[in-house]
Amino acid sequence: MTNRYEAMPHIESRVIPVDPFDLVIFGGTGDLARRKILPGLYRRFIAGQMPRDARIIGAARGDMDSDAYRKMVSDAIAEFGGQTKGSADTLKSFLSRILYVTIDARGEAGWSELQELMKGTGKVEAYYFSVSPALFGDLAERLQQWGMANSDARIVVEKPFGRDLETAKELNATLARYFEEDQIYRIDHYLGKETVQNLMAVRFGNMLFEPLWNAQYVDHIQITVAETVGVGGRGEYYDKSGAMRDMVQNHLMQLLCLIAMEPPARFDPDAVRDEKLKVIRALDPVLPHHIVRGQYEAEAGDENAHPSYREAVGDPRSKTESFVALKTHISNWRWSGTPFYMRTGKRMSARSSEITVVFKETPHSIFGAEAGQHRNVLSIRLQPNEGITLGVTIKEPGPGGMRLIDVPLDMTFSEALGDDAEQVDAYERLIMDVIRGNQTLFMRGDEVEAAWAWTDPIIQGWQTRGEVPKPYDSGSDGTVDSRELMRRDGREWREVAP
Ligand code: NAP
Repeated sequence: MTNRYEAMPHIESRVIPVDPFDLVIFGGTGDLARRKILPGLYRRFIAGQMPRDARIIGAARGDMDSDAYRKMVSDAIAEFGGQTKGSADTLKSFLSRILYVTIDARGEAGWSELQELMKGTGKVEAYYFSVSPALFGDLAERLQQWGMANSDARIVVEKPFGRDLETAKELNATLARYFEEDQIYRIDHYLGKETVQNLMAVRFGNMLFEPLWNAQYVDHIQITVAETVGVGGRGEYYDKSGAMRDMVQNHLMQLLCLIAMEPPARFDPDAVRDEKLKVIRALDPVLPHHIVRGQYEAEAGDENAHPSYREAVGDPRSKTESFVALKTHISNWRWSGTPFYMRTGKRMSARSSEITVVFKETPHSIFGAEAGQHRNVLSIRLQPNEGITLGVTIKEPGPGGMRLIDVPLDMTFSEALGDDAEQVDAYERLIMDVIRGNQTLFMRGDEVEAAWAWTDPIIQGWQTRGEVPKPYDSGSDGTVDSRELMRRDGREWREVAP
């Protein structure tokens, strides 16, 4: 694919090196480390962003030496590194920066060895908690006991951050005993996606959109995060969580914040997070008839077809939702009267994450009734094929009078910007931000608590009313009543398209 913008000198690959660092990955042998963190770090290494003396230290209970761990890392890169392979020498050089410590978050094993490794290095120290959330408190406490919770250290905390407001508060309080808020990096990897940042660039870097970004011009906004996978091997965890906790409370609400927030005064961590927090606090409670839940049915077919949700989690009476769709409002001047619709689910027809801003119809059609009423639709695709499309109305070419059609102005980033645009995965970007000390794309403690304060009553309502999720077909776009939720308002969901 030729780079359409190759004559534009300002769009080019630029790698800003970060300060020398030591990154300790607790849970360095786990699924997340192997699939995302380690291949991501390798890509940053290939890009020339990792300083010469940076080290990556894997830490878990599994008994192995650094050589055995390097083999594991090399295998993970081969399996999950995508097309980014690098030469054999490059890989060797990357692996030479990798160490492993056998450590138990709840015991004494390994801590003096880690302490010795981290002593007086003068580098940025980052500790990635890629372990079960039940161990976050133990790790924070151990780091302090062993003198590693110094004021420059950073901890990276994975989701889920609590399972309700109470547990999130407890976790915040526990971490706050050992670390300051500006040392805590709560990851929501959706915030690391290229398009999410582009959403801010489009909104606040152009004059075109912001004047129209309000209830006067926007009819409604849709946010869809559809997955084709089922619960897979995560059934036990997922069944205690469900789509509301696993997806809406974090990823979808973060997207809602970015699309709806007021322009921050500066693109800096607290200015951006203050504005996001205001959005969450202005969200109306969700009325019971404005939210629907579903559970996927078994796929039709032979014995290899996917099982139903209940079969997958091994509980024929499970009331946990694998799909949720809801309508909410933001009670402030900008958005009063504009509904926000959100839906997410597993085993849907396509893997697709998209935010759609549907503008109002023109107030009057000068072309007569037969030309129909048209609206502009701005669609921001997060995955796959990250990009932004603006639907505009034009005249259908050719003779036959003034017939109007909608056509997309399409900016698929991979096409527009060449290969460089595709290379930085969310995890890579976020880890480099941790090293830089930039918290803009991480959730602050009060944001997480506010999000739980909004979701808790919804979940409690389901429990109190004993509501059972409705079935939906695997490979569909969710439950029938999710479509009704829209149709009642005279609207339609966007097609879930790959
Ligand atoms: P996982 O595959 O179960 O890995 C857990 C890791 O923790 C292993 O390396 C394990 O190794 C280590 N570990 C367990 N107990 C330990 C202890 N007492 N002390 C030190 N290390 C211990 O889990 P995961 O899927 O990688 O998930 C890690 C975290 O990321 C979780 O919080 C999860 O919710 C979150 N997350 C994961 C994904 C994903 O795609 N996997 C996505 C989003 C968030 P040993 O057993 O050898 O100690």
